[in-house]
Amino acid sequence: MRVLLSIGGLDPTGGAGLLADARTAWHHDMHPAGVATALTAQGEEGVTWWEPVDPIRVVEQLTGVLFGSPVAAVKVGMLGSTDLVGPLVAALKRSTQVPLVLDPVLAASSGESLLTGGLEELAPLLRLATVVTPNRPELAALTQREIRSMADVQAAAKDMRLAGARAVLVKGGHAEGPPVDVLFDGVRYFEFAASRVDVKNVRGTGCALATALACRLGLGSPLPEAVSGAKAYLTQRLEHTYELGGRHRYLP
Ligand code: PLP
Repeated sequence: MRVLLSIGGLDPTGGAGLLADARTAWHHDMHPAGVATALTAQGEEGVTWWEPVDPIRVVEQLTGVLFGSPVAAVKVGMLGSTDLVGPLVAALKRSTQVPLVLDPVLAASSGESLLTGGLEELAPLLRLATVVTPNRPELAALTQREIRSMADVQAAAKDMRLAGARAVLVKGGHAEGPPVDVLFDGVRYFEFAASRVDVKNVRGTGCALATALACRLGLGSPLPEAVSGAKAYLTQRLEHTYELGGRHRYLP
């Protein structure tokens, strides 16, 4: 059994973060491993508190997983603090060369900031990642550009490449109209269109896409195929969300 390693925050509700990523790994017949970078408290109103885990403790968790199991792919989500970037990159470089998907989690949907530090501090992790998966607001914040049009998306994706990213997948869910994701591999722009599923307040969509992409890369798909497969997988889950008595909806 191949292992999907998710490095990210613990959202106790299971809507996002490590618990949600475990579900996506299972859907891909992969064993889920998880390294906690941050603890969070979340409820109806969003994130009420969070605290980063000491980088030494993150590396200790990581070492146990990397030396004890056949990790086929890594997904990095919420880091909490860019203080973690140096130790994390050193530990990953020492022990693995598998595909790595970086989902640059900057803020919760409810608005709370979930990362201290910026693009420059993230650069070593960008260079290590097979692909980085910002949504439009994250891309705008990271590149300090206004993003209104497809030309803006392309220019900002180029900036991410200049900052060290090997490939950039810009998710289109936050744009008006049908969601078009754009993949830039440094040479070409690939567009992936899908019809919008009419459902609101769904937790963990970014986590699901990035983790599905990591799983597919870990199972051997080339990048463009992995993106279209992950996108189709997410659309299918968005069509069957459920609620747990509050305002949020969850992916099945
Ligand atoms: N909590 C954790 C641990 C996360 O990783 C994320 C996003 O990736 C969030 C919260 C934010 O999730 P949402 O966008 O559903 O608020």
